[in-house]
Amino acid sequence: MTDQQDQYWMRYALQLAQRAWQAGEVPVGAVLVHDDRIIGEGWNRPIGQHDPTAHAEIMALRQGGQALQNYRLLDATLYVTLEPCTMCAGAMVHSRIGRLVFGANDEKTGAAGSLLNVLGHPGMNHQVQVSSGILAQECAALLSDFFRMRREQKKARRSAPL
Ligand SMILES: [Zn+2]
Repeated sequence: MTDQQDQYWMRYALQLAQRAWQAGEVPVGAVLVHDDRIIGEGWNRPIGQHDPTAHAEIMALRQGGQALQNYRLLDATLYVTLEPCTMCAGAMVHSRIGRLVFGANDEKTGAAGSLLNVLGHPGMNHQVQVSSGILAQECAALLSDFFRMRREQKKARRSAPL
């Protein structure tokens, strides 16, 4: 897998993240690729789905299982704009994907090395190959723009006359 391919798919994941933004959800996107084709896509939507597990990665992995008609997603690569949380990292181990590529680090909840290292734990029964920092600036900027917009909206609401 070349850097160019990684960047191509990360741009695709960034487009999916925009869909989350449009729905008022924290903008994270994920695309699952197998043999150079997309088998799963997801974007963050726990609020809209009333589902705490509706993270971009989980949605993409679920679709991938349906596409391959298999709960093992061997040799698939998951591209995510943000470092996955513990739940999503756990799901990646269960799915047996071959590789994870992510953009921005998540210092608060990242489970690929920032807060914890679930994927790199030596006792794990499946090792996922991890590449980080792909289009990291774009991925991080999307999130910080979103949170800035939300803060400004809140401020505007507070100062609006009743
Ligand atoms: Zn997650």
